[in-house]
Amino acid sequence: MDKKRILTGDRPTGKLHLGHYVGSLKNRVELQDKYDCFFIIADLHMLTTKPTKEDIESIAVNSRELVLDYLACGIDPSKSVIYLQSAVHEVYEMNLFFEMLVTVPRLQRIPSIKDMAKSANLSELPFGLLGYPILQTADILMPRANLVPVGKDNESHIELTREIAKRFNTLYEEIFPLPDSLIGDVPSLIGTDGSAKMSKSLGNAIMLSDTAKEVEKKVAGMYTDPARVRADIPGKVEGNPVFIYHDAFNPNLEEVADLKARYTQGKVGDVEVKQKLAKALNSFLDPIRDKRSGYEAQKGLVEEILFDGTMRMREEAAITLNLMKKAMGLAGAWKKIARKAEEYKKSKAKNS
Ligand code: ATP
Ligand code: MG
Repeated sequence: MDKKRILTGDRPTGKLHLGHYVGSLKNRVELQDKYDCFFIIADLHMLTTKPTKEDIESIAVNSRELVLDYLACGIDPSKSVIYLQSAVHEVYEMNLFFEMLVTVPRLQRIPSIKDMAKSANLSELPFGLLGYPILQTADILMPRANLVPVGKDNESHIELTREIAKRFNTLYEEIFPLPDSLIGDVPSLIGTDGSAKMSKSLGNAIMLSDTAKEVEKKVAGMYTDPARVRADIPGKVEGNPVFIYHDAFNPNLEEVADLKARYTQGKVGDVEVKQKLAKALNSFLDPIRDKRSGYEAQKGLVEEILFDGTMRMREEAAITLNLMKKAMGLAGAWKKIARKAEEYKKSKAKNS
């Protein structure tokens, strides 16, 4: 039997961070053997909030960084497809067909869209941003994926994908699976500022490619318990970003338990808690950084991976779009017209 399929990916808006790892990347790496995986570099999605020429110019560089992050974390291009969204033209057509199967109020109920507009400093929703989850539906259904490993903010999009797939299947013909989302160990990792989820665009992220020094500096500046102005004041562990990161990335459970106990008793300074966190993060990131620089040194490798992956996705895309048009009867209308036009041209030529 054919393996089930995964589709997920990222916008090429910068390098990947710890939030991506715990939210989605870890699951992707772990499921590579069990599923056929398709990973999208979603540059069309970037246009929803970043449409300028400068933004577009950055796609090539940022895509390269994303692929390097993937490889560094253990995504294996001999098993998984990595592709550039804008180079697979079928997605534009699929998006349009799916747009007909969703209402505007349904889209307006999706909370993440307003959050994205807010973090991009947009006072009103661009039409394309409102339609973000429809384009995402086209991405997911293009390889007819069954599972979508994503962070919590994307869960409602997958719900919409299921609705659209179901609607298509009942309206025309059963061609799409109803995909499930798979949320990571930490559904939404908080940023170093403690105020919002870690995000490429908010300047509150620790990147997987940050140097050890950068990690130390970012951790030293992290938000902790604001009520705790001195080390001898008992502190709060719940919701404290420093301890959230300890829980997510420090494998030394005894150390974490000890720090928590002393923190709540006012018996440890923020400096020690942070130094131990920086150390744990750097041990986690060291092998990732090493792998990354190894791949980075092989000029052209990333581009070859992305090119081959995109060509592979184009094959899948053509199959799916064909199935869709057949199911809808659209292909038939055009074929009929073409045949009759051809016959008419021939008869005209004969009579002249
Ligand atoms: P941008 O600021 O450009 O929106 P981002 O950091 O939010 O960037 P996306 O490209 O929007 O990243 O998200 C890619 C994937 O990573 C999605 O599945 C998303 O749910 C997940 N993700 C992003 N940030 C986090 C986070 N802080 N915690 C858990 N998962 C996350
Ligand atoms: Mg985002």
